[in-house]
Formats: sequence, C-alpha cells, structure tokens
Amino acid sequence: MKAIDLLQDKWTTERAQDVYGVDSWGAGYFRIADSGEVCVCPDAANPDACASLTEIISGLRERGQDLPVLLRFEDILASRVRLLNDSFTGAMQEYGYRGRFRGVFPIKVNQQQQVIEEITSFGGQYHHGLEAGSKAELIAAMAYLDDPEALLICNGYKDETFIRLALYARMIRLNCIIVLETMEEIPLILRLSKQMGLKPVLGVRIKLSATGGGHWRESAGDLSVFGLNTSQVVEVVDTLRDAGMLDCLQLLHYHLGSQIPNIRQIRTGLMEACRVYAGLCQEGAPMGMLDLGGGLAVDYDGSHTNFASSCNYSLDEYCRDVVEVVQQIMDESGIEHPTLVTESGRATVAYYSVLVFNVLAASRLVRDRGLPELPEDAGVITRNIHETAARVDVKNLQEFYHDAIYYRDEARDLFKGGQMGIRERALVERIFWFAMQRMQRLVEDLRHVPRDFEGLEETLSDVYYGNLSVFQSLPDVWAIQQVFPVMPIHRLHQPPTRQAIISDITCDCDGKIDRFNRMREVGRTLPLHELVPGEDYLVGVFLVGAYQETLGDLHNLLGDTHVASVRIGPGGEIEYVRELDGDSVQDVLSYVEYDPRQLVQRFREKAERAVRDGVINGQQRRAVTSAYETGLRGYTYHESTGNGV
Ligand SMILES: *Cc1c(COP(=O)(O)O)cnc(C)c1O
Repeated sequence: MKAIDLLQDKWTTERAQDVYGVDSWGAGYFRIADSGEVCVCPDAANPDACASLTEIISGLRERGQDLPVLLRFEDILASRVRLLNDSFTGAMQEYGYRGRFRGVFPIKVNQQQQVIEEITSFGGQYHHGLEAGSKAELIAAMAYLDDPEALLICNGYKDETFIRLALYARMIRLNCIIVLETMEEIPLILRLSKQMGLKPVLGVRIKLSATGGGHWRESAGDLSVFGLNTSQVVEVVDTLRDAGMLDCLQLLHYHLGSQIPNIRQIRTGLMEACRVYAGLCQEGAPMGMLDLGGGLAVDYDGSHTNFASSCNYSLDEYCRDVVEVVQQIMDESGIEHPTLVTESGRATVAYYSVLVFNVLAASRLVRDRGLPELPEDAGVITRNIHETAARVDVKNLQEFYHDAIYYRDEARDLFKGGQMGIRERALVERIFWFAMQRMQRLVEDLRHVPRDFEGLEETLSDVYYGNLSVFQSLPDVWAIQQVFPVMPIHRLHQPPTRQAIISDITCDCDGKIDRFNRMREVGRTLPLHELVPGEDYLVGVFLVGAYQETLGDLHNLLGDTHVASVRIGPGGEIEYVRELDGDSVQDVLSYVEYDPRQLVQRFREKAERAVRDGVINGQQRRAVTSAYETGLRGYTYHESTGNGV
C-alpha cells in the first residue's frame, strides 16, 4: 500500500479494512466498527455480541492494569472447539461416514491452566480430549480430564515414570492411550503393564515418506526424528503378537508438522497413513482409531494461498477431504471406518489471544521539510548532490541513485579527512535522504522494482517504538519470521499517513516487527497514524494464542505481560473474568537467581555508606532506597505516567 494513495483517496473504515485485511484473516472474530475501533465478535450468530478492544483496554486501565496486556477471549476458544467438532460431524454426515470424530488438544500449543480448563469443560459436550507430549503435560491433563469418553493421548519419549502414570490414568477410567514412538518403549510397557495387571491401549507413531511443507518440513518424512518407519512398525506388530498383546494396538498416529499450508500435502500424507492403517488391520491388530496429529493451518495473512503464513483450504474443506480420503481407502480395503482423531492445536487456540501494546515514540529518518537550501559557502560535493536531488526523475532513476550514493560517500570521506565540517556533512545527509525519498515515491509506480531499490522502503520508514518484547511475547516473529496480523486498534476512521516498522523495547536490533500482511506478499512496512502528543496509540497483534506464550524468553529481563480474560455478553457487555499480573522486576530477577531481599539489603547498605561518607543525607537515602524498592515491585515494561486512554 502506497503512502501517497493513503493520503489522496477518500478514507473510510472500508478502506481501513482493505489495508489491514481484517475480514480476510479475522475469521469473523474481529472487525472494524464505524467508530474506527477494532471490535471482537466471538459469536458469528449474534452480531450484537461485539465489544471494542479500546473499551476493553480502558476498563483494564481503570482497574489499574497497565500495557502491554495479553487479552484472551474465552468465547473464541469455545467457538473454535465447536467449529472443529461440528465441521467433522457435518462432513461425516454428508459422506455417510460410519465412524466418529474425537478431537484432542495438544497441550504444548498453549499449556496455560486456563486453556486446559476451558477446553476440557467446554469441550465436554464433544468429548474433546487432550494430548500430552511429556510427563508434566500428562500430569496436568490427568487432573483436568474427567470424561472417560474423551481421549488422553500420550506422545513423546517416555521413561518408566511416564508410562506408569499413563497406566494409572487408565486404571482410574481415563481413556489414556500410549503411543509408541521408539522401539525401546515396548519392553518397558510390557513389563509395567504385566506388573500392574493392566492392559494398555497402544498406538503407534509412524514416519511418513510424504513431507508436510511449511516451516516444519523436517519434522515429518524420512528425516523425522519422531516415529517408526515401516519395518519398525512390522517389528512392533511381531513383538506385540509374541507377547499376546496385539489386541492392545488400537491407534495409528502420524504428525506432518504444524501449519501445513497446502491441502494436497495433507491428502497425500493421509493416503499413505490409511494404507498403513489397513496393513495393520490385515496383520490382525484391532485398531479402530486413526490419529492425524496436527497441521491444520491458520490463515495468518488472509491470502488463502499455500504461502507459509496462510493455507489454501478452509476448516470445512479440511474435514471433508479427510473424511473422503479415509472413507474411500477403507471401503476399498473392506475395513470399518475408524474413529478419526486430530490433534489440532494451532487452529484451536490461535484466534484466542490478542496482544495489545502502546506506542511510546516514533522516530523518522526523513522529515518532510523539502529539499534543504544550499548555503553560500557550500562545497562542490554538496552542490553536486543538491543538484542531483533537485533533478531526480523517473527516466534515469538508477543513475541518480548511483550519483547520490557517490556524493554521499565522497562527503563522508572528506569529513573523515577533516576537510568537511560537521554541519556540512549533516546537510549532505539530509539532502541524500530527501533524494532517496523522492526516488522511493517514483519506484512505487514502477511495475518492477529495480534491484538497487529493494529495501529502500524499509530504510525510509519510520520506527515506532512499541511497549513490548518480541522475544517474550512474539518469539516466532524473531525465530522463524512468522507473520502475524498487526494493526492499530483505534483511529481507523482516519487515514494512516505514516509507513513504519515496529521496534520493541529490548536493546536487541532483532527486537522488531518488520514483516507484515499484505495481500499475496509480505510487506516490509505497516501503515500507521501520526502520533498525537498526550494521547495513547494502541496496536494489536492478533492470532497469538498458539505457541507464543511459553516459547518466549526473558531477553533484557522483560517478563510475562499482564493477562486479562474477557467474555463478551449477548449485548456486547464486557465481563472481566480473570486477570493475571505479569512478572514484576523482582520476579524476573529471581528467575536468574537473584534474591530480591538480598538485593534490597545490599542496596540499603550501599546507601548507608553514602550517608556515612557525607555524600547524601538521611532524607535523600530514604528517597533513593524507596525508588529502588518501588522499581523492584514494578512491571518490567514501560509504565505509563498518566494520560492513558
Ligand atoms: C505440535 C504437535 C501437534 C499440534 O500441531 P498443530 O499444527 O499446532 O495443530 C499435534 N500433535 C503432535 C504430535 C505435535 O507434536
């Protein structure tokens, strides 16, 4: 989106919708109201159940909760679980599939207690279960899952304790299934189940030769570190048969990797898995459950393509394709339709959370002051670059570009050699950036951007300083260049007149957001509004409910943000259900082994020595130590000093 267009065309909230693509990525949960504010609307069936995000934030601030804050919408989580189950059931009815759907939520995607509690309580009506990939996750699941019809699936490498816990879970009527990931687990399971006098229900995880595409390509396919290959699967069958326990093998599991953007890859993987399933039935294993793992993608950029941040299929299409493929292959092989299990994590929780932060300041490389005037005593280089800047036109763009760079470098050399003063060098730089900005505007109209100009837009953009840590709240932005929808959550009835990237408040140059959704491409800048002094400017990062919370780290000791859980009533009433305070400074310091009491002690003694040495008086010591102690108790983010929304 070009800055110039934004200024010239008549701005409406519909234009805002086009620029930020809310309708494309929001799945109906978010929309722009006429007031220019982003609203959350968790219930598609009731358009009145809609609330403004800025209003939610004002309410939180009144209650003393500062920004940044992670908003969680319980109704959205419920809606996602409902949609997944309804879509599968609908597809099964449509095709006359004679099996059931049993979803499980993989805890690793969002382990927060609240998420597990909500999924198990709301998902109860669908017998929605849980997937655990470690002992800690299993222990959490064992406490929250009550429904004997819901599945509790154990993946991951398992030691004796893990297996013993899984068997005990079965003993107390949880439908716990141990999925074999390695050959080494088999003798352990055989021994423990014999000891405990309990027949386990077993699954087997296979490696497929088809790979998933997307970021996690290597986590499936022959290179995968997880799962058994075909010859190992046959070995499992033989071992179980020899032990008289082949009747325990009831589930086949595979996982293609997360965020599979292309439906074809999903179909190809599934076809192969169905053949293995049929083979296991023919070997005499009872089977009954086919577990497709995760992979159901989220359309983060709203382009509906096989781009890594998108997917070329809808939830309904996914369910129909899965049902169709399984039914066809099972019918062909004369095998009963299995219960279909999916472990969709991302698609279940991504929409649930929105991170909201305030912008602290904006910095701008080029002030729109026009071409600076040339002083009488300007040197020849300065005159030359000035002339270049004045004459820039589209015909010889690249020549002007090279000239400008040449003169700028000459000026830098003169400065280094002591032949140009600091003021003149500053003038040359200003002229240079003016020229670059002119060229950038011309480049925007070209069909093909010449190579020299790639990255110029980004260089010329403003930097908006956001009160957040990318490393803590959006680790995938940093680690795997994930693109999340980012946009202002208010003022959308006004045109955004700046193009910006967002920098966080860590001191790390990687702490920035500089990849944004644009239709069918990744934009390097985001249209934002001019800051108004004394007024908050609030930006939301959407679809951050999956994977972001616990992958984050304590870079620069910026800790967890505050969290607020919100429900939206049928008339749009805002109900604050739960609030969790983010880390305080003393919290994060204690994570890295400081003892807050000792810190205070040491600091007080230091201040006392200063009194003793006559550097400060007692009253000053009190001010100094009190500021230190307040700081310890404070939020790790920039705390606002009033005039909030
Ligand atoms: C990570 C993982 C999932 C979740 O995948 P999504 O793509 O987030 O749905 C499911 N199953 C297993 C085994 C996993 O490792």
